[in-house]
Amino acid sequence: MRHGEMGTATRGTEARLAGDEDLRMIPRWSMVLAVVLFVGMQYIFHGVMPHHRHEMLPLRLMMGYAWGSMFASYALLLGYVSRDVKRRGMSAGLWMLVCVVLPGGMGAVVYFLLRQPVLSRCPNCSTSIAASYHFCPQCQFQIAPVCGKCHRGVKITDAFCTLCGHDLAEDGAPARLHVYSD
Ligand SMILES: [Zn+2]
Ligand SMILES: [Zn+2]
Repeated sequence: MRHGEMGTATRGTEARLAGDEDLRMIPRWSMVLAVVLFVGMQYIFHGVMPHHRHEMLPLRLMMGYAWGSMFASYALLLGYVSRDVKRRGMSAGLWMLVCVVLPGGMGAVVYFLLRQPVLSRCPNCSTSIAASYHFCPQCQFQIAPVCGKCHRGVKITDAFCTLCGHDLAEDGAPARLHVYSD
């Protein structure tokens, strides 16, 4: 097993990035945007719109609050999506566009239905690992049990590979994680 020197060099920064992602899933720009949109909506309803009829004030207050909070939560949602796509290895530009373009928050619903699982980290070098990986792409650390002959995934309880018929008991510990072999 090769343990790259580069892995140790980047490990510190990547771990720090992961911590930041957990703490601040909603970036500052979207919080600022949310406040600006809310205040902007109050300005439109109370400053720009004509209000000669004073009996309409409660309705105007309610409408300003409703529209303001709707736009503000939209901004926060966009901010969350912009962070969330990164830790799932998805396209940030595409999904933020989907959330903006589809009306009434439908884009966000589509996003939450279709988003990929959060990428995990290699226990050895903390490289991002997709759920389908059997080995770490950077340091060859084994993540899932595989057949020692065809290297495709096997279940840890299998005695033989379902694809090539290889006797998994012949493999050493890393090939089959060696749990039920003897
Ligand atoms: Zn690794
Ligand atoms: Zn096999």
